[in-house]
Amino acid sequence: MDMSETDFEVGEEFALRLDAEDPLASFRDRFYHIPGVIYMDGNSLGLLSRDAEETLLRVLDEWKRLGISGWTKGEIPWVWYGERLGALEAKLVGAEPEEVVVAGSTTVNLHTLVATFYRPEGRRTKILADELNFPSDLYALAAQIRLKGGDPDRDLILVRSRDGRTIDESDIVDAMTDEVALALLPSVYYRSGQLLDMEGLTAAAHDRGIVIGFDCSHSVGVVPHRFDEWNIDFAFWCNYKYMNGGPGSTASLYVNRRHFGAWPGLAGWWGHDRATQFDMKIEFTPARSAGAWQIGTISMLSSAPIEGAARLTLEAGMENIRRKSLRITGYLMFLVDELLSRPPYNFSIGTPREPERRGGHVAVEHPTEAFRIAEALKARGVLPDFRPPNVIRLAPIPLYTSYHDVWRVVQHLKEIIDNREYEQFSKTRGVVT
Ligand SMILES: *Cc1c(COP(=O)(O)O)cnc(C)c1O
Repeated sequence: MDMSETDFEVGEEFALRLDAEDPLASFRDRFYHIPGVIYMDGNSLGLLSRDAEETLLRVLDEWKRLGISGWTKGEIPWVWYGERLGALEAKLVGAEPEEVVVAGSTTVNLHTLVATFYRPEGRRTKILADELNFPSDLYALAAQIRLKGGDPDRDLILVRSRDGRTIDESDIVDAMTDEVALALLPSVYYRSGQLLDMEGLTAAAHDRGIVIGFDCSHSVGVVPHRFDEWNIDFAFWCNYKYMNGGPGSTASLYVNRRHFGAWPGLAGWWGHDRATQFDMKIEFTPARSAGAWQIGTISMLSSAPIEGAARLTLEAGMENIRRKSLRITGYLMFLVDELLSRPPYNFSIGTPREPERRGGHVAVEHPTEAFRIAEALKARGVLPDFRPPNVIRLAPIPLYTSYHDVWRVVQHLKEIIDNREYEQFSKTRGVVT
């Protein structure tokens, strides 16, 4: 893989040449683009593809034609839909088909997995996490500690960031004491885009008798994973970011097969062994698969787009996606460095530079005006997102963002500063950013 950032050029022709040489270029037309908009927010909500639309419409039609019989007579029988989508996604994360299931929501999956694998005992009562994780995860971990009779102030250890952007893996390992029962970390940090060494952290946790799980919401679909090879205990992720499964689409979870048979923390009938589920016995017999961690009936209409979207991702190939992701984010960082890092622009990159330490988006920081610059970008037809206090997140998505899009975004940033355009915007934020 050629990741050198020195072979880029700043000119527009160079962007067009990169597009002409891009092996994934044809996937762009499989997506619906918003007219007049350069979409740089696919790490928050991926765009709709024709493939996802097709599977959604198919399931809608099955409902129309079959009614309740869809549960057994759908093209993919709906009773097995979570398992079948899980088997598709297993290929994206380096797992066996029965180790992944599409179910619930991200935060609910965290709850059922942590309720299963957090077993405070004797001295080992603590959960290890970090202060930069997505807040929902930290709220849920504190709640799980309370449910087991603990006190989050004492039992939730948050590794601190040295620079406000990244977490040193060595600081996480140092915090893995014999009081820690479980560690829960993100794969990629939502703000800076740092990618953690999941393999190394898993080995360190297991050496110390700690169970470890990862929230991969910001990596599945853009960073290849090898969950089985790395031997992680469990993982979960959302399907609406790089997986392009639609707003609030059903989430996913992975349980390493050595834990099959463990008692699901938030058991429900959808996790029952399917063969006898509809016998409606009052005893619960968990499925011998990740399927055991399902809770209730799968939300079919929020899952159906994932089928087309996941097949499209598999067709493009995770290695190809990662190769383009590193190249296009490298190109973006190069342009910011070359054109926007000096006064009066003063932008800087908050994402680690090393390819093995970054995920799919780039955190472009501005010391004073990041929020208003993001507003000015929107007025110019660029959709970024802003994360307080000073980060503009830009996510060039390998499946549908072109190098020329990236080139244009950087020109927009330059002009916004040249014309002091951001001064026309208010400093007050709305509800969803
Ligand atoms: C997007 C995201 C979530 C979202 O949780 P929901 O339950 O889907 O709202 C959780 N954790 C991380 C790290 C995320 O990036």
